[in-house]
Amino acid sequence: MIAEIICVGTEILLGNIVNTNAAYLSEQLALLGITCYFQTVVGDNRERLLETLEIAAKRSDLILLSGGLGPTQDDLTKETVAEFCSKKLVEDKASRKHIEAYFAERGMKPSENNWKQALVPEGARVMENHNGTAPGIIVEKGDNQFFLLPGPPEELKLMFEESVAPYLRSISPFVILSQTVRTCGLSESFVEQQLVDLIDKQTNPTIATYAKLGEVHVRVTARAESQKEATKLIKPMVKELKARFGNSIYTADEGVSLEKSLADLLRSANMTLSCAESCTGGLIAATLVGVPGISDLFKAGFVTYSNKAKRKLLGVKKGTLQKYGAVSSQTAEEMVRGLLAETKTDVGIAATGIAGPDGGTKEKPVGLVYVSCNVKGKITVKECHLKGTREKIRRAAVTEALMLARSCVLEQLSKEILK
Ligand code: ATP
Repeated sequence: MIAEIICVGTEILLGNIVNTNAAYLSEQLALLGITCYFQTVVGDNRERLLETLEIAAKRSDLILLSGGLGPTQDDLTKETVAEFCSKKLVEDKASRKHIEAYFAERGMKPSENNWKQALVPEGARVMENHNGTAPGIIVEKGDNQFFLLPGPPEELKLMFEESVAPYLRSISPFVILSQTVRTCGLSESFVEQQLVDLIDKQTNPTIATYAKLGEVHVRVTARAESQKEATKLIKPMVKELKARFGNSIYTADEGVSLEKSLADLLRSANMTLSCAESCTGGLIAATLVGVPGISDLFKAGFVTYSNKAKRKLLGVKKGTLQKYGAVSSQTAEEMVRGLLAETKTDVGIAATGIAGPDGGTKEKPVGLVYVSCNVKGKITVKECHLKGTREKIRRAAVTEALMLARSCVLEQLSKEILK
């Protein structure tokens, strides 16, 4: 089954909006194991859309379209696809009711052209839109199937998850299963290098690396006739990855973040946690608090932005700040020392750095961040050189702090086991 994507909208051609729908749809098709060979963008123009449909129908089986399902004159995807498939437009009663209810809920009345959205090509399969009014449509012409999806990304994504993906799974002869192994503290090139032999001879399962902020994820994907068979193919590969990357893997489970894995690790070791932050300004604490149930181990977070706050709340020495500055390994070290003295937790993490865009110097450029960790009195400081905008540097600093905490705690635990 070959798929292709057609995004309709003059706005995309003009560069007014970025074509995120194409990226999303391509990624989802790959996850479903469906090959996608082409992406096209076409303006809101009947003739050019007809031309595009003609080409797509010749080379692909599944044609996914996004945009142009709205109520206005320039929204012409549905009309043009219906014309291409030689189908009349007929009113879909359920869609009319949905539009009525959608407007009533908002205390509004639909205008005459809103009803246009209840029209669908005769014999089409209709997909409900739970984030808007335009229904999604699956319509056939010979061996081709056309999927008409709304333009707004939040509408398109929900419809894809709820209706398109289950439908595609039901018509696909294969089960595609993926498992993601998440590593931290390694570069993508290093991870790839370690996998060269596996990547070179990969057939089924396949492996692919994805670089995230401070993390590299390795996705193992298998194609099989049943779920059981696919799981059987994935298992030995995940075992091999665990053997190669060891403790750099923080999880091989779905939906587990770095902060959650740190929380799980601390909980299993019966350890409590606190943090002290300068450049991250509360982002470490906010990230940790995003993990449900963390209140049993996360006890306190200090935002010590000024030198005075670092001295008063964490006991950082005036001399240290004067001699080395707030952004220094010495200050980072004293921050976590004072933090544990104050909170009496087992583990403390801190970050101090220059997030920019101003404030950098030749010696201390923007992106210089020190993260530190104190595990029961054993202090480790790491110097990081982070890149990007203020926001990106702050988020990367959080990841660095969490990664440092994880490795320091693991080190401490292995020492305790050896004792
Ligand atoms: P509406 O009912 O809101 O008119 P529609 O299905 O007709 O939806 P369009 O009018 O083509 O969709 O686009 C509506 C909005 O959706 C655009 O202004 C844009 O913000 C977003 N959008 C459309 N196509 C894309 C795309 N390919 N990628 C990202 N966003 C898109």
